Amino acid sequence: MLLDLNDLSLRAGERHERVYSLDVDPVVLGGIAYQALLPEGVTVTVDRVAGGFVVSISAMARVYGPCARCLAETMVEVTAEQQEFAPTARDGWEGSDLSAFVEDLIVDVAGLTREAVVLALPERLVCSEECRGLCPQCGQDLNVEKCACEANAGDERWQKLRELGFDDELGP
Ligand SMILES: [Zn+2]
Ligand SMILES: [Zn+2]
Repeated sequence: MLLDLNDLSLRAGERHERVYSLDVDPVVLGGIAYQALLPEGVTVTVDRVAGGFVVSISAMARVYGPCARCLAETMVEVTAEQQEFAPTARDGWEGSDLSAFVEDLIVDVAGLTREAVVLALPERLVCSEECRGLCPQCGQDLNVEKCACEANAGDERWQKLRELGFDDELGP
C-alpha cells in the first residue's frame, strides 16, 4: 500500500491521520516464515513540518507460526511503531539518512509497517518462556511428557564402565 504525501495537500502545521487496513507479507525469524495480521489496521499520521513530513505508523500485529522450541502453533501480539522523516527537498541529505520506505514523497506503508512488526518481535518466537521443547533424540514434546532418552544415556555410560571392567572398583 502506497501513500503519496503530495496528495494530502497539507499546509505547514497540518496533520493527516487515518486508519488503513493492510496485508503484510510474512515475516521470517530464524528461517521460519510467520504470518502477520493487523486486525485493527495501521494508523498512519502525517505531520507537515518545516522542510518536510513526519510520517508515523502504529499497529497492533498478531503473528502466527510454530514455536521455535516445540513447533506448536503459537500467536504473539506486538505493537509496531515507527516514525520516518521525509524531506520535501533531497538537497543536503545523505542517502543513508533518508527512509528506505519513502521515495519521491511516496510512502510504502506496507513495507514500513512490516519492518516495524519485525523490529517489535523477539528474535525467536516461543509458545512460552518455560517451553521445554522437543527431545533432540526422539522428538518427544517434553511439555507433554518426559521421554526415556536422558535415563538411557545414563545407563549407557554405566554400561561402558562395566564393559571396561571398572564395575568392581565402582561397587561398594
Ligand atoms: Zn513451545
Ligand atoms: Zn527422547
